Amino acid sequence: MEPAEEAVPTPDLSPAERAHVRRAVDLARAALESGDEPFGSVLVDADGQVRFEDHNHVAGGDATQHPEFAAARWAATHLGPDQRRAATVYTSGEHCPMCAAAHAWVGLGRIVYATSSEQLTAWHREWGVPPGPVAPLPIQQIAPDLDVVGPVPEFVDEVRGLQARARSQDRS
Ligand SMILES: [Zn+2]
Repeated sequence: MEPAEEAVPTPDLSPAERAHVRRAVDLARAALESGDEPFGSVLVDADGQVRFEDHNHVAGGDATQHPEFAAARWAATHLGPDQRRAATVYTSGEHCPMCAAAHAWVGLGRIVYATSSEQLTAWHREWGVPPGPVAPLPIQQIAPDLDVVGPVPEFVDEVRGLQARARSQDRS
């Protein structure tokens, strides 16, 4: 039996943390509406201030333009090591291996994702989307010491809807 569809316990997030996940999902929607893939991320410092936010920019042909990668590189330039360790990155979708590695290499802190790579992979399988060139490994397999929270069930249906719309745009 596949346990994937069992109810996932809701992570214990504060209202402020939920608002950051909400913002990441809104950025994913903005990406979709600008013709890009629906992934968004927000980097929040130890004081709860949003310091960086972005969405996917892969439509131009550079498939490495993920917001989680951009957040890691921004943090390496603009935050000291202690600030990076104390920062949290909120995302609409779990970091891919490239972004998980970048996040870990620059020493960023916690990750909170709305939906997992496992969920995205299952949706793609369901929709007949061929696997991508990078294995959809979970963050913990790339960076075992990271504090990772997700999925957040209240956002899953919405993100699934954005991903479904992105696939139907591909076909149009
Ligand atoms: Zn990525």
